[in-house]
Amino acid sequence: MLQDKITQYTAEINAFSTANADELEQFRIKFLGTKGIIKDIFDEFKAVSPEEKRSLGKVLNEFKQLAEAKYQTLKEQSEVADTSTDSGLDLTLPGEGFEVGSRHPLALVRREIIEIFNKLGFVVAEGPEIEDDWHNFSALNFPEEHPARDMQDTFFIRKGGENGDIALRTHTSSVQVRMMEAGKPPFRAIMPGRVYRNEAISARAHCFFHQVEGLYVDENVSFADLKQTLFYFVQELYGEGTKVRFRPSYFPFTEPSAEMDISCTICKGDGCQMCKHSGWVEILGCGMVDPNVLDNCNIDSKKYSGFAFGMGIERIANLKFEIKDLRLFSENDARFLKQYKTSLI
Ligand SMILES: [Zn+2]
Repeated sequence: MLQDKITQYTAEINAFSTANADELEQFRIKFLGTKGIIKDIFDEFKAVSPEEKRSLGKVLNEFKQLAEAKYQTLKEQSEVADTSTDSGLDLTLPGEGFEVGSRHPLALVRREIIEIFNKLGFVVAEGPEIEDDWHNFSALNFPEEHPARDMQDTFFIRKGGENGDIALRTHTSSVQVRMMEAGKPPFRAIMPGRVYRNEAISARAHCFFHQVEGLYVDENVSFADLKQTLFYFVQELYGEGTKVRFRPSYFPFTEPSAEMDISCTICKGDGCQMCKHSGWVEILGCGMVDPNVLDNCNIDSKKYSGFAFGMGIERIANLKFEIKDLRLFSENDARFLKQYKTSLI
């Protein structure tokens, strides 16, 4: 009799299914409740003969587990169904994608420049943005009357005083001086950093910009080494076949000095707005370190020679990305910056 009841209820449980929470609760009360069927059956079981108990015990336990498992499974299913409908949350919708940040175009270019020179053994050196007169001008062989010292070009923080004028550095060449003062040759380093000039802000000029300075000092360093190093740099940065040319120039801290042009990356030499229809664009200044600068930094200029170069990162980025207005680099316009999401990352 008890066996018959169990068989009958087992079939009922196996056939039962619902996604409705009320119906499931009815099921729980009917079978698993304190006055439910399982309770009744266990009560009946107490009265059966010892022989029957032996054979029925296992069946009874399996029956109880079946009812509990059924309830648990349907409950979990109905909870999932609840969150997907009642709360208005649809778990089948695709998730929100990550907003991938973008690197600033100047950071991209700076990193690429550093990587190229790293391959040639140049390490990265840095120095302070607030400099004294010695490191920014005097040690670099700037004559007293040089116009770069003038108030119109330099942001002075303090005029005069114990160590002379204090100013925002006007170039990263000041890091050369600090590096040579602090060590012994050979030096092979590049020095990226922000520099400041007292200029009116326009599409073509800004009161701050970024430079990468390079310095190589050792025995027997020649202008041929300078040309070969910069030629390699240009081929790596703008691709093989990019032409270079050197024009004589003047900087206080190099002798001889030159400006380096590359064949226009946009028109490939045919002439366009970027190169003012000349087919060439200037990208950096360079030269052999003036012996006076080596002596100022306690380096024996009879024994050692070196070359130095400096370029504006904005200028390089300009040619790489054709960004015509310098102000875009510092205006933090997300529409501008987001364009560089996939380039060079
Ligand atoms: Zn051109």
